[in-house]
Amino acid sequence: MARKFLLCFHDFSVWNFQKVAPILENLKDLIGAPFSVLVIPDTEKASPEAVQEFRDTLFRLQSEGFELALHGYKHKAEFSQGRSYMGIIGMNLTHGEAEFAGLSEYESSRLLQQGLSAWKSLLDKKPEAFIPPTWYSNKFLPGQVRALGLLYEDRFSITSAAGRRYASAVTSFAGIPDFLMKPAFKFGELILQLPVGLPRFALHPVDFPERETAVRNLLRTALGSGRRLAFYRDL
Ligand SMILES: [Zn+2]
Repeated sequence: MARKFLLCFHDFSVWNFQKVAPILENLKDLIGAPFSVLVIPDTEKASPEAVQEFRDTLFRLQSEGFELALHGYKHKAEFSQGRSYMGIIGMNLTHGEAEFAGLSEYESSRLLQQGLSAWKSLLDKKPEAFIPPTWYSNKFLPGQVRALGLLYEDRFSITSAAGRRYASAVTSFAGIPDFLMKPAFKFGELILQLPVGLPRFALHPVDFPERETAVRNLLRTALGSGRRLAFYRDL
């Protein structure tokens, strides 16, 4: 396998698409190619006009070659739903964003189905991958995702729909304290140099514009590293 890296823009939603879509286009111009966008599919509380505009934007991105992946359902959850102890810890650490953390088999499957049906109301193609919000999961979710024929990603690895597993270190700048920001960018450069594995860059709307310059420099380093930008669907 030629050396590759993944660029994954997280948390694209009906609430932020107007602001984020131009950021995606700018990054596409920098890289010279489209990349992976992780979509939060829930539009329950949005106006019909916003939903329609969001849908149009998703179709436009798709037609420009961006690949779209499913990123949970609401990216937010309540404490109930019978979470395990570790699940409650996961929820606490992420301010309630880890909606799949520690769920029971039944609740996990139900939430995954809700995510998928929200996706289907927006798009007619199936997602290229499923990535649980914040990567916190439960022991049933990887199997449930693969049973749907979708690629599954956790914090340290990616498993294709066919069951092939890739070690994959990820660097992400969202939700980390300022004093760790420089080390996080250093880590991003480091994982490009690892002899094995598929480095991943996880970007979030909150990275822009605050960390835009550093992000663009890191992407230039990635492009200059001899690695090729890959899609989930190539795995
Ligand atoms: Zn997310």
